[in-house]
Amino acid sequence: MSKHSAPPAAAFAVTACRGPQGCEHRALDPGDLPQRLAEGLEAMGLAAGLARLLGRPPKRHEQFTVSVSCCPNACSRPQIADVGLIAAQRPKADPARCTRCGACQDACREQAVVLLPSGQLDAIDEGSCLACGACIAACPTGALSPGRSGWRVQLGGRLGRHPRLAEELPGLHSADQAVEYTLRAARYFLEHARPGQRLGDLVAKVGAKAVAGVKK
Ligand code: SF4
Ligand code: SF4
Ligand code: SF4
Repeated sequence: MSKHSAPPAAAFAVTACRGPQGCEHRALDPGDLPQRLAEGLEAMGLAAGLARLLGRPPKRHEQFTVSVSCCPNACSRPQIADVGLIAAQRPKADPARCTRCGACQDACREQAVVLLPSGQLDAIDEGSCLACGACIAACPTGALSPGRSGWRVQLGGRLGRHPRLAEELPGLHSADQAVEYTLRAARYFLEHARPGQRLGDLVAKVGAKAVAGVKK
């Protein structure tokens, strides 16, 4: 894992999985997303705002945490961060190009690739697909190719005395949108939190969409 944080280091932490180093499982290349998140949080004055809110510099467990995972394996534990970003790559099916090799079924851990009894590609079961992109990489003919992609945005995860998993915003989002929602959530936290509260307390009260300023 790599960490990107800015002075004062205790105010926030942006953690990324091994995706930026080229992990073979990554669904998307994050590019400079972790750096952009850290720079954005620094520029918005999160460190000073957190110190104002608490009346002192934050302790480690009071850090605002952002976690970036480049596939649904979620190695950096985005579900328990204040903001968690998970890369998603949905496959597009073109059954006419399928040669019935079966590689996609071997690659898919969710049994989401639907083949006909003949072995021919039929469809992707969207309800089961986790958008990891593994079947696309496995398919030798292009019958499965990259479809919709983007970042899942989860808000308000935490551990501690009252642990909770983060709540996910609907849809997939561009890297720009992921940065924007992260900064909006941090601003909402500074404006509405009481000392001792986490973003998860606010998400539990008003929902992830309200915290991120998502209208519909
Ligand atoms: S989350 Fe996925 S891309 Fe990131 S290190 Fe884990 S397996 Fe690799
Ligand atoms: S993207 Fe991943 S989960 Fe979805 S069908 Fe392909 S291998 Fe299965
Ligand atoms: S990997 Fe591609 S060619 Fe092979 S069965 Fe699956 S869709 Fe067809």
